[in-house]
Amino acid sequence: MDLDKAIRKVPDFPKPGILFYDVTSIFADPDAFKYVLSKMSELYKDTDLDGVICIESRGFLLGAPFALKRSVPLVLARKSGKLPGDTIAKSYSLEYGEEILEIHKADLTPGKKWLIVDDLIATGGTLEAVAYMVEQQGAEVAGIFSIIGLPFLSYKNKIARYNPQTLIDYEGE
Ligand code: AMP
Repeated sequence: MDLDKAIRKVPDFPKPGILFYDVTSIFADPDAFKYVLSKMSELYKDTDLDGVICIESRGFLLGAPFALKRSVPLVLARKSGKLPGDTIAKSYSLEYGEEILEIHKADLTPGKKWLIVDDLIATGGTLEAVAYMVEQQGAEVAGIFSIIGLPFLSYKNKIARYNPQTLIDYEGE
């Protein structure tokens, strides 16, 4: 499987100077989607996981089938104001702006080991914010997974201790 070919690249989105790596083209291609899920399963087959936390919105599409396959709970990290229950929240900076993520407190069981899943790691700020909430609740980060990594944005400075795994990395222009 040529994963690079399955990823749509959109220059100057959502603003000039950003090359957007669009994984919706993977979800539109069953062979590519199956490939990504099988690689995820392989990567974490020996990892002790109690649950998966997936990040809105493209992370949901990866986290859901993986959690179901592993028969572990799936918890959503959503943008501010979307979750109806009592939440824990964390604000952070993005490659292109500021954001707040929230998780239902009742879902984030203390003492459990969570794999955090998103589509792409740029600066690592998003995943760091979720890892912060996990630890704040007295739970543990078992790992971090994203399809794509942009190592030139130095995400390892923020999240190396959580052993981030990616399937493909891109360098900046
Ligand atoms: P960061 O917090 O900087 O690691 O940014 C990661 C989040 O922003 C992920 O949820 C990505 O979906 C999104 N993102 C950031 N940069 C890009 C990019 N160049 N292409 C696609 N998505 C991106």
